[in-house]
Amino acid sequence: MDGRDLFKQFLKPKSIFNNREVLRSSYMPDELPHREKEIEKVASILAAALKGETPSNVFIYGKTGTGKTCVTKYVGNQLVKTGKEMSSPVEFIYINCEVVDTQYRVLTHIANQFIRKWDERVPFTGWPTDEVYAKLMDCIDKFGGAVTITLDEIDKLVLKSGDDVLYNLSRMNSDLKIAKTSIIGISNDLRFTELLDPRVKSSLGEEEIIFPSYNAEEIMDILIKRGALAFREGSVSQEVIPLISALAAQEHGDARKALDLFRISGEIAERENSPMVEEKHVYSAMNKIESDRISEVVRTLPTQSKIILFSIIEGGEIKRGSLTTGEVYEIYQKLCTYVHVGALTERRVTELISELDMLGIIEARVISFGKYGRTKEIKVTTQEKEILSALEKDSTMSELMNLTLEQQTKLDLF
Ligand code: ADP
Ligand code: MG
Repeated sequence: MDGRDLFKQFLKPKSIFNNREVLRSSYMPDELPHREKEIEKVASILAAALKGETPSNVFIYGKTGTGKTCVTKYVGNQLVKTGKEMSSPVEFIYINCEVVDTQYRVLTHIANQFIRKWDERVPFTGWPTDEVYAKLMDCIDKFGGAVTITLDEIDKLVLKSGDDVLYNLSRMNSDLKIAKTSIIGISNDLRFTELLDPRVKSSLGEEEIIFPSYNAEEIMDILIKRGALAFREGSVSQEVIPLISALAAQEHGDARKALDLFRISGEIAERENSPMVEEKHVYSAMNKIESDRISEVVRTLPTQSKIILFSIIEGGEIKRGSLTTGEVYEIYQKLCTYVHVGALTERRVTELISELDMLGIIEARVISFGKYGRTKEIKVTTQEKEILSALEKDSTMSELMNLTLEQQTKLDLF
């Protein structure tokens, strides 16, 4: 080794990560602790495919981050693997309906899976839906085996495009000559099937599996397994995983949130050149996640709500405290005049204030003045800096925010 390099290895800060990708939700773990029962249930249903039979259709429910997607993909991968070993023709198709959200896209997406396999080119653009459906039937029959189609976030598809597509998919078996299909629908929304046509509902809900939320100990096991792959040995302090697990368990045991918090805590520790992830990094990560959320919510608010929000901040600064609904409305009206936006009624503004409260951007506490009625005490949350910088990205708002002192006095907010 060159003498000059001898010290370099000690000077370069070592990353605390081995592989941070392991903590992303796109990563497919080899093991899924605490989902053994669910894995077995899905596998027992899909096993029919390997015997040349038609598996039942399944509906999978559960809150976000309970492992619905990873369990289904895991079983699907195993199914295809076993199918190959047994020379039994099975195919597993996964569709994320948040992206593939119309009947047309779903049908062409499935057809393309086969067409790609055969290296053919079929330009579907402009084809009527029934022709795409007919082509799809050809493709599946040409394949000739058992095809399981997973529609993840299926409620998004139905909300956007209605349940025709599910009706058509559920009657495929009667149009197929050789091959067989089955459908797995996945949703976070327990009441989703109430929206469906009864025929579709009974056909697709032949089997139902509910994924329970994880508790703190289960989240802990998940984090220990993933953490061991993601971080270098000895670079996670002992309290970190129990802390993240406890926090995630409070939020209905969402494993995705727990993993995000773990990854971001690690990234913050790394940025600070800390040799270890510690509790303080978890708290910073929580703040960062919350301010990112607030920025995103504020950015996507309609202009009227942005003006109301800014009125609350401005008024709060002038008054050095919380405002009543009436005070917010007064400032709001003046600001609207200034940017030539038509002011809404006080009643509507009160509704929008409640919405901002529900989004967690402001706090509105109802107080009562005895016989004089009730009003609200309104103030922004602690994330005022993030709110202001998100507001400033809107051109109407930046105009308002850049009012000179003189103009502000002219506006005479109080
Ligand atoms: P859902 O689809 O129910 O919202 P996901 O399957 O996307 O949840 O899981 C969210 C994240 O948590 C993913 O990164 C996934 O790998 C991980 N995860 C969920 N359950 C487990 C488990 N039992 N073991 C390991 N990782 C899990
Ligand atoms: Mg999912």
